[in-house]
Amino acid sequence: MSRVKKLIRQEILDLSAYPVPSAAGMIKLDAMENPYIWPAVAREAWADLLKDVPINRYPDASGEMVKDALREEMGVNEKYDILLGNGSDEIIQMLAMAVAKPGATILAPEPGFVMYKMIATFCGLNYVGVPLTADFELDEPAMLAAIEEHDPQLIFLAQPNNPTGNLWDETAIQNIIEASQGLVILDEAYTAFTDADHLALLEKYDHVLVMRTLSKVGLAGLRLGLLIGSKEWLSELEKIRMPYNINSLTQASALFALEHFDMLVMQTEQLRVDRVVLMNDLTAIAGLEVFPSEANFVLVRTPDGMARNWFQDLKEKGILIKCLDGGHPLLKNCLRITVGTTDQNERLVTALNEIAQSGSVQ
Ligand SMILES: *Cc1c(COP(=O)(O)O)cnc(C)c1O
Repeated sequence: MSRVKKLIRQEILDLSAYPVPSAAGMIKLDAMENPYIWPAVAREAWADLLKDVPINRYPDASGEMVKDALREEMGVNEKYDILLGNGSDEIIQMLAMAVAKPGATILAPEPGFVMYKMIATFCGLNYVGVPLTADFELDEPAMLAAIEEHDPQLIFLAQPNNPTGNLWDETAIQNIIEASQGLVILDEAYTAFTDADHLALLEKYDHVLVMRTLSKVGLAGLRLGLLIGSKEWLSELEKIRMPYNINSLTQASALFALEHFDMLVMQTEQLRVDRVVLMNDLTAIAGLEVFPSEANFVLVRTPDGMARNWFQDLKEKGILIKCLDGGHPLLKNCLRITVGTTDQNERLVTALNEIAQSGSVQ
């Protein structure tokens, strides 16, 4: 046995690395990024600011100014603390590490965000995925039964959910929270694209925290996520956070972006308008089922057996989306399309219409 195979934990050897396909030269509608860049004046002002960042020094370890700006922009009450992560992915990891006693369990509805399961594996926790119903609603009896059986330390509820795009019944969410003996994380990665908001649950339940990110609103390259909640929880999690996890360029850039947040809000407003247009256009394509979305992406289902073909045909036409067929039984024949610029959406719809009309492409 090689030393690698002997030393590395079996569950890590069994993993395949998170696949990120090359998108060089393609219309990129696969990763829920904001397709718009900033106006030239804003980019110049930002670059001016970055040239004075003291890159020879360690970053501000607490990120206090960034937290204040986030608090202001997101309307977070003073009585709650904020924890910063290098993307919300890192926050999920900190949460997992914090509760990783032998035998600890993470539970989440499925299909859901894949990193919950990946990070459970990284950190040596059990993972329990509870299937949603066929129309991607929470299966409340199944969730309650799984909570009873596994008594999970951590439950993740993404609202809107990725990759389905929908919001779940609020009463079901609260019944799940009330049944849980563990910590429940409301993952609001897509908060910019919906009016739903779960900050009020912090008031009602002291075992709930709300997680957000700047990635989907237009700053995916910065890697900045945040966790919002009571000092009691967050002061413990702070101990796990690497002191310099938010680098100086990210801090300076986030401060700049938050000062000019109206720029990003205008873009997300445009994406919300275009989401409706895109959904209507997709609905008109013969054989395509379109699921409701409160996020910056749309889940669709192709005629049986066509998802991989249509994905491949789109790729050949220079458009990259996400093929979810095979990822989870409930996602059979499903594709996920990120809302792009108005022009990109139109090109996608044109291409899909051509593909749908040409019938099965062998
Ligand atoms: C994208 C996403 C995240 C992670 O975002 P970061 O870029 O790591 O901040 C977390 N949760 C859900 C549901 C997501 O879709």
